[in-house]
Amino acid sequence: KHTLLSVQGLKVDFKLREKIFTAVDGISFDLDRGQRLGLVGESGAGKSVTGFGIINLISKPGFVSGGAVLFEGRDLTKLGPEEIRQIRGNRISMIFQDPMMTLNPVLTVGTQMIETLLAHKNISKKEAEAIALEKLRKVAIPSPEKRLSQYPHEFSGGMRQRIVIAIALLTSPSLIIADEPTTALDVTIQADIMELLLELCESENMALILITHDLAVVSQVAERVAVMYAGNIVELASTKDIGVRPQHPYTKGLLAALPQNVSRRERLNQIPGSMPSITSKSVGCAFHKRCSYAEDICKTTVPPLELKASGASVACHLVK
Ligand code: SF4
Ligand code: MG
Repeated sequence: KHTLLSVQGLKVDFKLREKIFTAVDGISFDLDRGQRLGLVGESGAGKSVTGFGIINLISKPGFVSGGAVLFEGRDLTKLGPEEIRQIRGNRISMIFQDPMMTLNPVLTVGTQMIETLLAHKNISKKEAEAIALEKLRKVAIPSPEKRLSQYPHEFSGGMRQRIVIAIALLTSPSLIIADEPTTALDVTIQADIMELLLELCESENMALILITHDLAVVSQVAERVAVMYAGNIVELASTKDIGVRPQHPYTKGLLAALPQNVSRRERLNQIPGSMPSITSKSVGCAFHKRCSYAEDICKTTVPPLELKASGASVACHLVK
């Protein structure tokens, strides 16, 4: 087994008005080289915070308050700002929902790509330009030579996200963290971009953490799924298992709420209620107020994430 990333008890807190709130509550998972993991859940579950926590990019008033993030032999939580900057955008690339989080509107695409390369690699401008062109070809941008001298606004939304992916590829990272990379795009373009990401991960042997609220998107791309709820992973299993035999009541609800399933059984399958916010202290299982299986123990005791008979890791008292 070639572990690329080992997240061990990662905890992220926010300090608001002298009070500490926990957004990510000590989560753990491993990712092998070239493996693709989907991080799924409702907004506010802690998915994005986990992504930022891994690369030590939590902005104030948030901070990583515990745990370790082992990546290529180093604990990212222990690195100084300069060391972590050398890993970010080099060994680990980020892709965001909004391409303009990555792209600078006043610089040409070529300038941005070349500057990114020169910041991380000891190469000439000519060599950098050649790599930029190669990556634009990889993401299927038509006439890349011409496109290098254009500005971000001269591209469509889908093409802009392709450029962001090309930028993410520049330094041949071993890990890409993509946070809702297609949520802002038309449905037809979404599928194309996901297909592209999948192909590139395979051909470049890159691992992927795909953060999304959409279980359908995850099943297209990821080999494993971690379902997050209120700052915790509640189920971690292969994508196939999640699809055919989800174990945690919340995962079951997510699956049943997918459009293709809702059309059959109508609204019965929407999960009632809403996720507790990080400012509300919950006791016991964070899902118990919405869970139709809840028993007394659920109201008092937090279920640990444990390996169950099915082979999935599940945080639920009732799953054996
Ligand atoms: Fe439901 Fe209890 Fe399982 Fe939580 S621990 S998901 S409340 S059955
Ligand atoms: Mg988010």
